[in-house]
Amino acid sequence: MRPEILFSLYKPVTDLAGVGPRIGKLIETATGAEQGAKIVDLCWHLPSGLIDRRYAPSIADAEPGRIATITVTVGKHRKPPNKRLPYKITVSDDTGSMALVFFHARADYLLKVLPEGETRVISGTIERFSDELQMSHPDHIGTRDEIDQIMSVEPVYRLTAGLSLKVLGKAMRGALKLIPELPDWLDPAFLKQRQWQPWHEALKDAHAPTDEKDLSPLTPARARLAYDELLASQLTLALVRHSMRRQKGRTVHGNGRLQAIVRNALPFSLTGSQESAVREIAENMASNQRLLRLLQGDVGSGKTIVALLSMLNAVEAGGQAALMAPTEILARQHFATIQPLAEQAHVTVALLTGREKGKARESILAGLKSGNISMVIGTHALFQSGVEFKDLAFAVIDEQHRFGVHQRLTLAAKGQRPDVLVMTATPIPRTLLLMAYGDMDVSRLTEKPAGRKPIDTRVMPLDRLDDVTGAISRAMNKGAKVYWVCPLIEESETLDAAAAEERYDHLHQLYGDKVGLVHGRMKAADKDKVMNDFANGSVDILVATTVIEVGVDVPAATVMVIEHAERFGLSQLHQLRGRIGRDDTASTCLLLYAQNLSETAKARLKIMRETDDGFRIAEEDLRLRGAGELLGTRQSGAPDFRLADLVEHADLLAIARDDAELIVTRDPELKSERGEALRILLYLFERDSAVPLLRAG
Ligand code: ADP
Ligand code: MG
Repeated sequence: MRPEILFSLYKPVTDLAGVGPRIGKLIETATGAEQGAKIVDLCWHLPSGLIDRRYAPSIADAEPGRIATITVTVGKHRKPPNKRLPYKITVSDDTGSMALVFFHARADYLLKVLPEGETRVISGTIERFSDELQMSHPDHIGTRDEIDQIMSVEPVYRLTAGLSLKVLGKAMRGALKLIPELPDWLDPAFLKQRQWQPWHEALKDAHAPTDEKDLSPLTPARARLAYDELLASQLTLALVRHSMRRQKGRTVHGNGRLQAIVRNALPFSLTGSQESAVREIAENMASNQRLLRLLQGDVGSGKTIVALLSMLNAVEAGGQAALMAPTEILARQHFATIQPLAEQAHVTVALLTGREKGKARESILAGLKSGNISMVIGTHALFQSGVEFKDLAFAVIDEQHRFGVHQRLTLAAKGQRPDVLVMTATPIPRTLLLMAYGDMDVSRLTEKPAGRKPIDTRVMPLDRLDDVTGAISRAMNKGAKVYWVCPLIEESETLDAAAAEERYDHLHQLYGDKVGLVHGRMKAADKDKVMNDFANGSVDILVATTVIEVGVDVPAATVMVIEHAERFGLSQLHQLRGRIGRDDTASTCLLLYAQNLSETAKARLKIMRETDDGFRIAEEDLRLRGAGELLGTRQSGAPDFRLADLVEHADLLAIARDDAELIVTRDPELKSERGEALRILLYLFERDSAVPLLRAG
């Protein structure tokens, strides 16, 4: 239950004077509120600019183009002879006169607010019209008593069609009057050290900029508000993390027998970081705490084998292990890699996706239930109801960013509480790691397997397509396999597929049946066949949409063409490019761009040419595009922050994480005075779902 002290903040904006359902809807759009804008949504909608009305010249000195506040004597009203012409009012001071201009004016209204012979304060933009100074539709008209109110700095807010600054500004002033004084949830020493104000003062200050500098995310007021938001989210993650840890896990001790067999069967030895990851995971499994670990490794760093060895560890101890992949292609590919290795160790592995039906499916389900099947690889079909395990000890989720925090928690909550390892190839910058995966431990694969040649990346304009096809023909003559990637078109799979089909037709004319096509709209069986022909058979060029982005492993593929590379995110390009350069043959990646590339787009493609360091690329992507895009907004589970900016406030995020950890360690039930205030913070940022975790004790 939301504490009473927050009630006023959670009233609908339509409770404010002058805000009806229509304006309420517009405020919802402008503030990005979820549904039904609340007072708090207005509070979080910080100014994006300001209008300085403190320039108060005499008429003679007034500079055209500037916003000025002038005290004038109202002169003659000049009604227009017809409605298409403006209504003009002459105003003057000791130094001269000017005209106030109104289109479609209502004379009675103007006579009321600007009575002839009276003194009035007007504020608006000074214009020059032929030789005369004028002001059309002043923003403010008031009496001399109101000068202080008018001659001020007015915050400017992001608006939406149909919502004027005047209307939003009024609602905002109304909203800010309602904000309560809340007990402070920040550590007093920290507050003092940062010279931050109490919450309600910071909020009011953030809404009252007097200078461009006040709009910076780093002002004390804005930094404090951002910190509060980050702390609420980190505290939530810390509570999740601690409640996971409180749950007793099982102790899983493998004896190494099966792992040794598989290691011997491998044509390579593990890299140092693969070894440490395997060890860290085994240690987690052996302890009686639940394992929730993220294995992060760039594309091609060899995560699969780490997963397999860890799964075998669970099987050695008599349990079952599952590996869940985000797509069917990937699940099949993992199965193809793992099955022959597991077979050597006499471990039974099954494949379970949406496509296993009827008898085959029933027999797999029976095997999982009886324990005859020790290992299963599949898609999310694995975790649907109806799938029961005899004793699931260990679950691996590959390419986590496709699933998201929520699913992770659902899985972790499954009956038998398996240890969970999540694998991602997205090199997530540290700041985001804390954000999206703050509830997990992390292992990183930092080395690439030995002998990998760097990929030669080139950037070229699309209109040199003939050069590209020429180069491809030469590479193919030398036995190379080629990926040809067509871009995502406005998130529409249909359009995507159409573009890919068109390119396929074009290349088919050149290369005949050596060209294959795979996209998201194809039937799974057809996709498999093409992928298979590409990996092992007659297809040398695979035209594809981003379906191949994740994990597909065809070592003989050494050339990649990416059309409209400028439309992809850097991290996505990096993922795609990771499909080549997977063994010791030299690989080439051609990034084709359309004409008239913006400077940012050029800078981005340049980064791709300069580096294949996934972390550097991810940092750049974060800088250039923001967090949501990098993690794939909604799926990521990384919340959309209203006040915090993960780039600007990266340092605050790190502090918030430590702060949250300390809070949960010292006061796990949030019972102290600060703890009580922190509960309010959780509700303030609608982290209600974290609150029950406090009681889970
Ligand atoms: P990713 O981390 O992208 O999932 P994979 O697990 O698919 O990478 O491994 C990429 C390729 O590298 C595979 O062909 C795999 O067999 C190979 N590989 C993995 N580890 C090593 C290693 N230590 N030495 C050489 N090759 C390796
Ligand atoms: Mg992989």
